[in-house]
Formats: sequence, C-alpha cells, structure tokens
Amino acid sequence: MNKIAQIFQSLEYGPAPELPDQANAWLDSHGRKFGHFIDGKWTKPGKTFASENPANGEKLADITEGTAEDVNAAVKAARAAFKPWSALSGYERGKYLYAIARAIQKHSRLFAVLETMDNGKPIRESRDVDIPLVARHFYHHAGWAQHLSREFPDAVPYGVCGQIIPWNFPLLMLAWKIAPALAAGNTVILKPAEFTSLTALLFAEICDRAGLPKGVVNIVTGQGETGQAIVSHEGIDKIAFTGSTEVGKAIRAATAGTGKGLSLELGGKSPYIVFEDADIDSAIEGLVDAIWFNQGQVCCAGSRLLVQESIETRFIAKLKTRMASLRVGDPLDKSIDIGALVAPVQVERIRDLMKRGVAEGALVYEADGPVPANGCFLKPALVTNVSPANTLVAEEIFGPVLVAMSFRTPEEAVALANNTKYGLAATIWSENINLALDIAPKIKAGVVWINGTNNFDAAVGFGGYKESGFGREGGREGMSAYLKPAWEKELKLAPAAKAAPAKAENPLDSGHLDQTAKMYIGGKQSRPDSAYNRPVLDPKGQTIGEVGEGNRKDVRNAVEAARAALGWSTTAAHTRAQILYFLAENLDYRRDEFAARIKAQTGEDGTAEVALSVERLFAFAGWADKYDGAVHNPPLRAVAAAMVEPLGVMGIVAPPSRPLLGSIALIAPALAMGNTVVLVPSSQSPLSITDLYQVIETSDVPNGVVNIVTGDSVSLAKTLAEHDGVDAMWFAGSAEASAMVEKASITNLKQTWTSRGLYYDLADRRFEGDYFLSKATQVKNVWIPYGA
Ligand code: NDP
Repeated sequence: MNKIAQIFQSLEYGPAPELPDQANAWLDSHGRKFGHFIDGKWTKPGKTFASENPANGEKLADITEGTAEDVNAAVKAARAAFKPWSALSGYERGKYLYAIARAIQKHSRLFAVLETMDNGKPIRESRDVDIPLVARHFYHHAGWAQHLSREFPDAVPYGVCGQIIPWNFPLLMLAWKIAPALAAGNTVILKPAEFTSLTALLFAEICDRAGLPKGVVNIVTGQGETGQAIVSHEGIDKIAFTGSTEVGKAIRAATAGTGKGLSLELGGKSPYIVFEDADIDSAIEGLVDAIWFNQGQVCCAGSRLLVQESIETRFIAKLKTRMASLRVGDPLDKSIDIGALVAPVQVERIRDLMKRGVAEGALVYEADGPVPANGCFLKPALVTNVSPANTLVAEEIFGPVLVAMSFRTPEEAVALANNTKYGLAATIWSENINLALDIAPKIKAGVVWINGTNNFDAAVGFGGYKESGFGREGGREGMSAYLKPAWEKELKLAPAAKAAPAKAENPLDSGHLDQTAKMYIGGKQSRPDSAYNRPVLDPKGQTIGEVGEGNRKDVRNAVEAARAALGWSTTAAHTRAQILYFLAENLDYRRDEFAARIKAQTGEDGTAEVALSVERLFAFAGWADKYDGAVHNPPLRAVAAAMVEPLGVMGIVAPPSRPLLGSIALIAPALAMGNTVVLVPSSQSPLSITDLYQVIETSDVPNGVVNIVTGDSVSLAKTLAEHDGVDAMWFAGSAEASAMVEKASITNLKQTWTSRGLYYDLADRRFEGDYFLSKATQVKNVWIPYGA
C-alpha cells in the first residue's frame, strides 16, 4: 500500500510543522538580548534572566530585569509624553491605534510563531485566536479614541498608567491594557510576565515603526519586584493588573489610600453547567475549548464541570472518548491540540495540587496517548469523585485539569456554581432557552456563555465578580476604566470633623427633643448590643438626644438582614422606582419635622436640605428603570447582552456633614440599582436618619433592604470593610480612614468608593446620575447564540 492509501486507512495525522525561521531571525537581529523600551528607545541590557521555550527548554533570549531606576525612567518618559498625547484630537490618536492594528495584521504570522515559541501554546491558537483578537482590539479602540469626547463628555484620562500582565495570553493581555489606555489619552508603562516578554518587545518595535510619539508606550521587563516598583511608584496614576488573586490582593493593599485608579482581573474557577436536555456532542466540543484551550491556563477556563445526574454516565463516557483523540505535542505543529505549559514551575505546581486532591479522595483519568518526553507537557486530565471541599474543586489549578461533579435540579446547579470565592465566567448548555435564561442571571459571574464558551470580543466587557476582581476590559465599560471625571481634580479638602465626645457632658436639656433612638435592623428597631449609647449634641454642645453605640455584633446582624433581603435585587425596577418615589413622598410629607431636626443638630436651616433629599430620591427613583445595559454585536454568531446588576450588600458610611442628604445621596443610587444597604449615618448628627426609619416603614421598603447602625463611623467602617458578607463599601471621611477601608476590603476584594478626606458636595446635581449609579453596579455579559 502506498503512503496516501495508508493514511486513508489509519486516518492518522501527519506532522504539520510551522517554521520558526522568521522568529529566530528577529531574535537574532537583537542579538537575543533585550533592554527595555523607554522613551521610544531601547535601553542597554542590564542584569538579565533567560526566556526559554517551554516545549524544548531552549533558551530564546536574555531579558533585562527592570530596576527601580528603570521604572523611574519609564515614568519620567510617560509623564513627559502625557500632555501632548492627551492633547491630540481623538482622530489623531485613533489613527495611531489604526496603524498599530494594521501593523499587527501585517506581521501576524511572526507574532503568532514568536508567541508560541515563548509561551508553548499551540500555533493554531496563537494564529487563529490570540493575534486576530489583538488586531481587533486595536481597531475597536481606534474608534473609541475618535468618539471619546462625544461619548464621555466630562471625562479625562488618568495620566500615566502602570500595567502588569500575566503569561497566559501575553500579547492579547497587552492589547486589552494598552489599546483602551491610549484611546483614552493615557500613556503607559507595561510590564510583561517574566516567562513571556518577547511579543511585548516585538510590539514595542511596531509602535516605533507606526511613529507613535516617544514615551507613550514604555515596556519594562522584569519579575515580581519590577511589578512592585510600578505599583508603588508615586508618579503613576492608575494600575491595571491581570494575574493571580493573591498578587491582586497585595496590589489592592499597596495602593490603598494613594488615590490611584485600580482595575484587577484575577483568577477564576468557572462552572461549566450541562443540563440533561443539552446537545451533548456540542457540549463536549465546547468543554474541550473551555478547559483545554491554552492547556487550561485561562483565567475563565470552564474548569468545573457540573453535569445533570441523569446524563452524567453517558456524558463522562463520551468525554473520555473525546479526550483519547486530543493530541499533545510540539506547539509549532498545526495538527496538535495541546501544547506545552508555560514553565517547569507551573507543571510542578499542578502536579502538587493533583497530589493533594488525590490524597483527599479524587480519582484522576488520563487518556492513553503519547506525550513528548522533554518539555513542559501534561496530559489532559479528568477528575471525579470529589466533594466541594476538595482542593481541586476549590483552587484555581491553571492547567489542563477538569473537575467533574453532578447535580439533580437547576437550583442545585446554581448553588454549586456559585459555591466559590471567584466569579469570572460560567457556561450553560441547554436546548431549553427558558431554562438557560433563568439560570444566567442567578450565576454570580461577569461573563456567562450560553451554548458556547470562551467567546471574547473587544466590544464586550470582560471581568469578574467577587474575588475575580473588579473593572472591565473591552467595550464601553473598559473605556471608562481609563477615564475619570474632569471635576475630580478640583475637589478641596473636607473641613475637619469635630471629635465626638466619649460620653454625655450635659444632662438632657428639656428645651430640646429628648430621644434615645434605636438602630434599625431587618425592619425592626433594635437596641445596641453593647448597651451603650452616645450623645448627640447641638452646635452649642447641649445634648439633644442619644443613639446606640453600634458594635461588631450589630454590624453582623445588619449584614445578615441585608443578605436575607437580597430578593430586592430581582424586584422589578419599576417596583423599586415606585418604592423610592413613595419614600420621597412620605419624607416630603414630614419635611418641617425633618428640617427642624437638621436645625437642632447643625444650627442651620434644614429646609433646603430636606427639599434636596426629596428631589434626590425622586431622581434615583427615575433612574431605577433607566440605567440599564446594552446588546453588543460581536463578530460571531451571537449577541452579548450587557446586563447591569447590583453589587449585593453595600456598606455605606455617610459623611459627617448634611445629616439627611449625606445619607440619602448615597443610599438612593444603591437602592435604585437593587442593592441592600447597611448604613452608618453621620456620627455627629445621626438623628435625621434614625428618624428616617419611620418613613422607611411607611413606604413599603421591604425589611432588611435598609439597615441603620449608629455609632463611631470609623470603627463601624472597619468592621463592615472586613466583613465577607459585604460586597461593596462606600466611605465618606478622612484620608486616613479611607486608606484603612480600602486596605480592610481586601479580604473578599470589595469594590470601594472613598472620599479620601476630600469634600464631595453631595448637593451638587452631578451626583444625581451615573457617578454613583456606575459605582453601585457591575456589568454581566451574557453571550447568546443569535442569527445566521
Ligand atoms: P502572578 O499573579 O504572580 O503574576 C502576574 C503578573 O504580576 C506578572 O507579570 C508578575 O511578574 C507580576 N507580579 C508578581 N508579583 C507581583 C507583585 N507583588 N507586584 C506587582 N506585580 C507582581 O501570577 P504567576 O505568574 O505567578 O502565576 C501564579 C498563579 O496565578 C497561576 O498558577 C495561576 O493560578 C494564577 N494566574 C492567574 C491568571 C489569571 O488571569 N487569572 C494569570 C496568571 C496567573 P512575573 O511573572 O514576572 O513574576
């Protein structure tokens, strides 16, 4: 039999190697030794480390370890470039982004081969997924640059952005960071990951050739310490990070109180849910993409298979058959499915996790089939017989390891899917559209794919819930992550707050209202757990009432009540609007009483403040059913519904001034968007809010939606920020306490807004719209197959 006839018989794949010659020639043209790209020039290589091809261990090049001085030089260059770059018209900036997009397309094969050699991913993926998505990102953002002033009229760029990226999608993560930053008018210092710096260095060359002004893009290579030098540099205005949750938390702690912008795209343990009515063959193919794409080194990898019990046996058997046909081998071979992991240390890490999982009872299945003897290769693995507590179920493995569990009912699927500290992505397979669209909103994740998986597009935001981070990359949300309100720089310091006396100095004066107001938790008035009260004084220092001294236990009860009331988040927006209107109406009905209470506490006429508070409730009642999402049209057979969702339970600590409006201006947007709230009113003048619960009770606000804990703002803020049941924190107070809140929030990576000691004039109508609405919400993109 001749060779072709034999192949027809056996249906074996032959090798289809991609030549590395051009990539090698490019490396040779740099003498295989690289400095940084700073201020449009290559620096002389300093102390270097080796970058190796993980498929064969061969050294590709020596890369310079970035020092603090290198970071300084890059910041200086980026700072100098910022003014002229941000002053260019959007059209001019757009033309540069377009030129970069075109150059990437023209050199796409070189980029793809270099990426595969450096990272170990199959050439099919770098050629057909990574690099086309990179080009698409720059095209898309060329458009944003041009339309910026129309679409974001009151926004300005941050300035100099420090961007730190991981090794799993080296050039794609670079594009996700650099394209929106430049479109918005920022300049950047980007640090690629130690293992995969090469395509970022080739990109620097492309920027040079595209004539990008010097200093706009600076590439500083190095390891974790170089990243730390970027994070802590005072000349950097915003940090954007993608990587592990552990390092993300360290960066949150390091930037607390600095006022730096921050977006974090962190780890995941994404569920892949298959219902019994799914198209099983499609779901199996989807699963191959979900967990074995890029050897499973994908933050949103569908690494937890949840399959309905009735089809479990059949599904797992089919999956094992499919696994047997996955080919592990040389990443430059176009006919392999699974390439090399990025580095020996990752292989070891995965093996260690597997050992732990097996010791805890997991069973591991690997198909027969060859694996190259040398290089960082692992077989695809399927793990069964696990409980939710097994290490392999709970931890992000970041490798080709799928963990399978089963469920019986849709409710159980949702409970298992959400039983994780992460919330990056989820996949749902069902032929029943009602079921799929019922489950999608119940999953706590930033991206949900229905009957598909791992779809990405520049027009569709990507990012996580919970400990998967905050901020979005891509689309409108991604653009706003690189912009801030123009008026922020005009904010003045808030006047220093008067220290509250530790105990009453005067007996109650019979000329004032005498009241010991209780807290309000779960729809009931409640006494402070501490059984201590604190006095409320008028401007002359006379005691006019007392409120409870809230403590940790009161906060715990309030958070529990707020969590139990989260049904508010799925209450129809129209209903939430009606309730806020009703609240406004009932407050207006008692306006004289509330105005008198403000006067008693502050000495100032409270009439205007009450009127503004009523107006603010009206404003956000009006927003409840209008601040909504979009339907994106990515270049795939799908639409992505960008759903605006609440954050969950919000801890809100009101400013000391404006006893009524200070709280209303903050809780109204939170409530309008479906959050429940634990509110700490002004420490000095809390009586306006303890009066408010009577209005709340008469306005159909469900129990637990608003909870009021009185006491010392700073210590209550700390307790709230540390509480894992609180999803987001807003704090108006001193710079020092704001830093404390931001640092304490790292336990579950809460989204925070703090006033940092600045005076936010909440009476200003700029706070009547999307400033707080955007901070009270997060966008979930639900990808739905659609059209021909
Ligand atoms: P890291 O989070 O450590 O690295 C991401 C980037 O941050 C790299 O550029 C790294 O530099 C840099 N970095 C490391 N430490 C610091 C620091 N203290 N301050 C600032 N920057 C820092 O991920 P690893 O590469 O170490 O991977 C470890 C694990 O993290 C993986 O096994 C995986 O589980 C997870 N991971 C998750 C990713 C995701 O997208 N969800 C992406 C990458 C990893 P350098 O690499 O040069 O040291």
